[in-house]
Amino acid sequence: MADFNIKDNLRKVLDDIQEATIKAGREADSVTLCAVSKFHPVESVVEAMDAGQILFGENRVQEAYAKFTELGEKNRKFDLHIIGSLQLNKVKKALEVASCIQSVDREELLAEIEKQAAKLSKQINVFFEIHTGEDSKSGYTDEKTLFDSIENCLDKKYPHICPVGLMTMAPFVDDERIIRKSFVTLRNLREKINATYPSIKIKDLSMGMSGDFKIAIEEGSTIVRVGTAIFGNRPAKLTV
Ligand SMILES: *Cc1c(COP(=O)(O)O)cnc(C)c1O
Repeated sequence: MADFNIKDNLRKVLDDIQEATIKAGREADSVTLCAVSKFHPVESVVEAMDAGQILFGENRVQEAYAKFTELGEKNRKFDLHIIGSLQLNKVKKALEVASCIQSVDREELLAEIEKQAAKLSKQINVFFEIHTGEDSKSGYTDEKTLFDSIENCLDKKYPHICPVGLMTMAPFVDDERIIRKSFVTLRNLREKINATYPSIKIKDLSMGMSGDFKIAIEEGSTIVRVGTAIFGNRPAKLTV
C-alpha cells in the first residue's frame, strides 16, 4: 500500500464512523472507536496515540502487558480493553493494565476477575461476550448460563465487577444479512437483559470490526473494534 499512514487511516476511520452514525439517524459521538493494536508494535500504538487515540483493544494479555506497561511508564495516556479469550492464569496481569475485559465468556472467569480485582482494590468493567453467529468460537452460547452470571453480579457476589456491555464478533462471511442478524441478536439481548433486570444497566454494544463496522453502527453499536483499517494487515506473529 502506497503512503501508508496510521494517522491518516485513523482520521478516515473516524470520519467513516461519524458518517455512518449520522446516516443511521443516531446522535453524533454515540459510537466510540476502540483501536485494535494486536500484533502491531508499540511504535504503531504511539503513532495512533499521537493522533489523539485513547482507547485501545488487545487480544493477548502478555503482548498487551508488554506494550502498555511500557507506555504507562512513559506517562502516555490510554484506556485499554482486553478483547480476546482470556485464560484464568492471565487475569491478574490483564487487570494490571486494562480497565475493562470485553471478553467475559464464562462464570469461572468472572470469579477469577473478582478475586484478582479485590486483591488490587480495583473496580473493573466487563462486557459479556455472546456467541451470535455460526462460526465464532467464543462467547456465551445459552441464555440460562449468561443470565446466571448476570444474577451473580447483581447478588453482590462480585463487588469489584461492573457489567456494562455486551460484545460479539459477527461471522466472517460475505452475506450482509448474516452479519446483520448477528448484530441484531446482540441488541435484542441487551433489551431483554435490561427489561429482565431493572437494576442493571447494560449500555454498551461492542460490535463491528474493519469489515463490518458500518453495518454494526446501523444496528446500534456503541463501540467498534477496528484493527486492520487503522494499522494495516497484521504481521503473522509478534513475539514479545
Ligand atoms: C482482531 C480483532 C478485531 C479487529 O479486527 P479487524 O478486522 O482487524 O478490524 C476486533 N475484535 C476482536 C475480538 C479481534 O480479535
